[in-house]
Amino acid sequence: MTTMAQVSRATRNAVPSAYRGVAISYLDAPLTEEGLVEAYVGRESYRRTRFIVVRGPEGDTALLHVTREDHESLFAPITAVEVLALPSETAYVVAPDSDTAVPSSLAAVALREAPQAKAVVVEGKYRHINFILNPDPIRLTVLEVIPPLPAKLADQVRRLLDTAEDLAPMVVDVRATDLAELAREVASPCYLFPCRGSDAAIEGAQMRYLDERPSRQDWALVGCERSRQIHEWFYGDVPPGVDMCPRRANVPGDGAILAKCCLLESTIEVDDDRVVVPWGASMAQVREALSIIAQEREPQWSAV
Ligand SMILES: [Zn+2]
Repeated sequence: MTTMAQVSRATRNAVPSAYRGVAISYLDAPLTEEGLVEAYVGRESYRRTRFIVVRGPEGDTALLHVTREDHESLFAPITAVEVLALPSETAYVVAPDSDTAVPSSLAAVALREAPQAKAVVVEGKYRHINFILNPDPIRLTVLEVIPPLPAKLADQVRRLLDTAEDLAPMVVDVRATDLAELAREVASPCYLFPCRGSDAAIEGAQMRYLDERPSRQDWALVGCERSRQIHEWFYGDVPPGVDMCPRRANVPGDGAILAKCCLLESTIEVDDDRVVVPWGASMAQVREALSIIAQEREPQWSAV
């Protein structure tokens, strides 16, 4: 069994690690601080219950943290109740598509449906119920280039965060550089792209792809440092062009940044404000990058 972190009213991004720690209870009385303590201290509760979502007569919701002195018996009286959130601070959201075991999914629901709430209880997939207290997810910007669509790294991040039960909550903003738009920064009758996969169409211009090693033409290279190196190897010179490497893009704000770079082949690098993975990173590498970001931004975070 994993040890669980302490939780209080002030715990940021608090998310219980397993559904069964969260019980739901209906109380036919006003959900006030004293009323809740009075109603639940002394009540028997299941050994694994650590939190109680209390639904009141008005459809209102409160959130309790409960403890027992007897940790062995299957059921034992609750000996202490801490009200984590009162009805005025708590939202109850039905979100059938959300996996409530996943902190990022809970945070996404919270920001979308109840951005002002201190506690957001989510009834999600499989009708499981869980909550996030004091949601303040890590803001992650993923730097991408398009086409192709969907952009692979952004898609990998989304797929990982959709299932990551043990990562601090993150919300993702994708900033995609459009290659066709970037190319317009240098006028040319012909553009050379790294590969056909970056299938950008530029009106009135010819397209060539470096990985096909076409015969040399008067072109502008839309590529990364690695493309320039390959060009020099093939043709003996570096042509005019624009750099599309997302690694160097400027991003305002102080959120976390994930980028990819063609120069990295198998390693992940951590710059001052960004984590950089290889172009075409594996899911395992992207997962590792997200862990690094979570560790940097929320070193204290663990499920409660
Ligand atoms: Zn690069």
